[in-house]
Amino acid sequence: MRLKIIVNTVFKDRPVSASELAYEKKTSASLGTEFEISTYAWAPNKHLKISFIAPLPRDQKIWYVFFDHVQLFDRNLVPIDLTPIEVPPEPGPGSATVGESPPKPKIPSSKWRWPLTGTSMNAKTEFGYARGRLHAGVDIGGYTADECYAASDGQVTYIKGDRGGAEGRMLEITRPDGWKHLYLHLRSIQVELNQAIAMGELIGIRGGSGFGSEGLEIDGGGYSIHLHFEVRDPAGKPVNPRNILPADGSVPILE
Ligand SMILES: [Zn+2]
Repeated sequence: MRLKIIVNTVFKDRPVSASELAYEKKTSASLGTEFEISTYAWAPNKHLKISFIAPLPRDQKIWYVFFDHVQLFDRNLVPIDLTPIEVPPEPGPGSATVGESPPKPKIPSSKWRWPLTGTSMNAKTEFGYARGRLHAGVDIGGYTADECYAASDGQVTYIKGDRGGAEGRMLEITRPDGWKHLYLHLRSIQVELNQAIAMGELIGIRGGSGFGSEGLEIDGGGYSIHLHFEVRDPAGKPVNPRNILPADGSVPILE
């Protein structure tokens, strides 16, 4: 069977909206792209569960996608008409709220710095909800490929080295206390997975990778070169970097 993308969309590892998933749990798929697939099944929230053959998005076989973002073709390349079937949501992480919510993690008091100086282009490039979804970081803009320095100490816990997807090349560093700092849309990455990082160490070069094709949680509207910088608490929840990093004028907001 074949699957053709008919609107820029996202493959996800669960049948939920893309905004509910971390960057590493989804990948963008561009209009017109075609895939060889083996099976499809209805999943909750009008999603299809697809088993891919080739190419394998992010080397992963199973992905979920909104049914009306794709067109399926049978082995004779005849289009398959899809009528959604209601499927109850699967129990899974985040689907149940049992008991009390965990205590709020304390904001770490040890040192942070901004990864580089630059401007936040307007309120839309700041942390916050815009057009119904969370922009989970601060976009540090500029027109040149500038050096990015580690905002805090830690160990490299995730690297995405290819330039595709909304996030482009990205890097995650986890501090010893579990807080994370993430760097997206990099031109190059200058560290390796599991490497220990000291605050202020050169980690990569800002440059326009990513944010081309997803169309969903794309950065707020500044399309010059920028670093999307994110801070997450030990539970993985994004926190406004401005609540953590020094208010030292490194990243002024331009209106
Ligand atoms: Zn951003």
